Order: sequence, then structure tokens, then C-alpha cells
Amino acid sequence: MSTQELEIQAAVAYRSDEPFTTTTLELRAPAAHEIRVRIVATSVCHTDLMTKNKALCSFPIVLGHEGVGIVDALGEHVSGFEIGDHVVLSYDYCGHCPQCEKHKPSYCNDHGSLNFAGTRPDGSKTHRTPGSGTADVFGSFFQQSSFATYALSHASNTIKVDKALPLPLLAPLGCGVQTGAGTVFNTLQVEPDTSLAVFGCGCVGLSAIMAAKLAGARRIIAVDINKSRLETAIALGATHRILPGEIGDAAAVVDHVKSVSQTNGCHYAIDTTGVPGVLRQAFDCCGPLGVTAMIAPGVPGTEVSIEMLGLLPGKSLRGVVQGDSESKTFIPKLIDLWQQGVFPFDKLITRYNSIDSLETAAQAMASGQVIKPVVVIDPAFQE
Ligand SMILES: [Zn+2]
Ligand SMILES: [Zn+2]
Repeated sequence: MSTQELEIQAAVAYRSDEPFTTTTLELRAPAAHEIRVRIVATSVCHTDLMTKNKALCSFPIVLGHEGVGIVDALGEHVSGFEIGDHVVLSYDYCGHCPQCEKHKPSYCNDHGSLNFAGTRPDGSKTHRTPGSGTADVFGSFFQQSSFATYALSHASNTIKVDKALPLPLLAPLGCGVQTGAGTVFNTLQVEPDTSLAVFGCGCVGLSAIMAAKLAGARRIIAVDINKSRLETAIALGATHRILPGEIGDAAAVVDHVKSVSQTNGCHYAIDTTGVPGVLRQAFDCCGPLGVTAMIAPGVPGTEVSIEMLGLLPGKSLRGVVQGDSESKTFIPKLIDLWQQGVFPFDKLITRYNSIDSLETAAQAMASGQVIKPVVVIDPAFQE
């Protein structure tokens, strides 16, 4: 079976301004280093929507980078996996560049080409329209393209999990949850009795808040323009909520966060919004030696202005990809915390059934109506 092409269903992005459309495609047989995964569920991440809506990719393309599923076929050079294994898919990396060797694979020299090029590392495409002689649809998004019934991944971005776990719930671990929690645990290494401000309480921000509570931060300040998100933030561990509209302008919000921190400014701040003015506020909220983590960079070319004097008290601004996480060890750690009941990331999830609901799920996330939509593709796992 592994040498055959396979007919699949995929929610294809044909253009930036068109909805995801479920279509039949042919998926190439797994190459020597590829794993074919029958996708059980996929969640939707803002990166999928930004990539499509801002046309940061070639079209048509199969997006999706938070897939979970069951190993269906193995290329001849894949080891360590068996058909039937349950897996979570994450971002890919080369494994041998200086950053990969330093256990920082999210800063891999090939991060862009492996995750965003829409092709295999050799430049070939994996999907084609039935009847087309050549592969005419881009895929290999994060070396998975999980908005489909089947995906091709690598051993490097495929994480085996216990078959007893509820697979659909694990989908957001591959990017959004790992990014938020990893920023706290791996990047900032938040210490007990500290203060932390989180700007933007979507999946990434709320995952950061849950992690900060576990890390023992004393003051966890949630900032968002959506009132219900702030209520969720409090339920998950934030100690303070700030609705900027109730406080005043940017300077007033910064003053308020600093006063709430009770530490002459926060020890840490995280901006998940990708809005330059909000990143500036996050940075300004930090006190001496404070570290600001920037998670969402906005579209290419977006700039932020920071007062140089503001950097002087030992402050730093740090870009963060995937929470500096090594998915192979970090995702099992997050699953373990979830099983202990101290990291309830499943509370962020809204389930949708069938691949046809992908556009509805994406719209609900984009409008802020839901935090993390999980689209359950495999009927056996639908509720
Ligand atoms: Zn690398
Ligand atoms: Zn993502």
C-alpha cells in the first residue's frame, strides 16, 4: 500500500479571498523518509489564516499544521514508527544545523523552507488534482498539511502518543498550546513569585497563563479587548484582568499594569497579538531586567518602535518561535500535566465534525467566537 498514491479529501485554499473548499485530491505515495498519517482531527491556528488571507503562500495549497492521526504507511527509510501508531504532528526542522544541535530546532536554518514553502525539502509537490498529470497543488505545510483526510510527515515532526489518549483533544499541542506554554517554561523560564503580563488571550496567551500559574508566578496579568476571554483567563489562572478600553490610552494601560505588578514593572511580558502598538505596551510594562517575548510578528515588513532609553535598564525583547520547544519531549510533558489535571488546555477547544466544517471553524476563530477550533475529520472520533 505504501507505494500507491491515495485519493484524499482536503479543505483546499484556492485564493486568499475564497473560503476553504473540500475537494478530492491525489496524495503522492510516501517518499523514503515520509510517514503517511490518516488524519483524525486538526485544529486551526491563526498562522493558517494569516498565510492564506495575506497570500504568504502559493495557491492552491492544503494548509493545516496542528494535525493528529494514526500512522497509515511508512516510507522505506522511516524507523521508530509502526502502522497504527497514534501521533501528534508539529513543526519540522533539519536536525543538524547549529540551532538544531543546540536543541533549539524552532530556530532551524531551514525553518522557513521546511514549514512554509509548500513543498517537500527537494522542492517537489505532494498533492495533485485528479486527472492532472503533475502535482499541481501545494502542500507540505509544516511538512503535514493537515486540513485533509491524510497527510505526509517526517519522523522529526511526528510525536507518538499513548493510544488510550483522546486523540482529537491533542491537536492544538502541535503549535498553539506548545507555543504559549513553551514561552513560559522554555524561553522565559518564569520563576516563582514573579509578575507576568500577557497581551492577547487566545490559545497561545491562555496556554501561557496556565503555564505561568504552574511556574508559580505571583501576578499574572491578562490584557485583552474581549471581556469573555478575560473571564477565561481568570478561570485558568490569571490573577488580574485588564480591558484596555476601561483604563484609557496606551500609556494609561502601561501605568496600570506596572502598578498591578507591584514590582516596579513586570519581570516578563508576552505579546501574542502581532500589533506593533501592543508589543510596545508589553515592552513598556516590563521593569529592570524584564524580558518581553514576541510571538506573533505581523506580516513581513511590520516594524515596532522602542525607545532606546527604555532598553537601558537591562531589558530585552525576544522573538519566540514555538515556545523554544522540542516537540518530541515537550508535548509528552504537556500531556502529562494535563493528565495530572493542572494544565487544562482542553478548556480552550470547540469541536467541529467533518472536514466540511473547516471554513466555519476558521471563521469562528477569526471572529473571536471560539478560542481553538478542532475539526474532527475521522467519523469514528466524531461526537
Ligand atoms: Zn536545523
Ligand atoms: Zn500555529
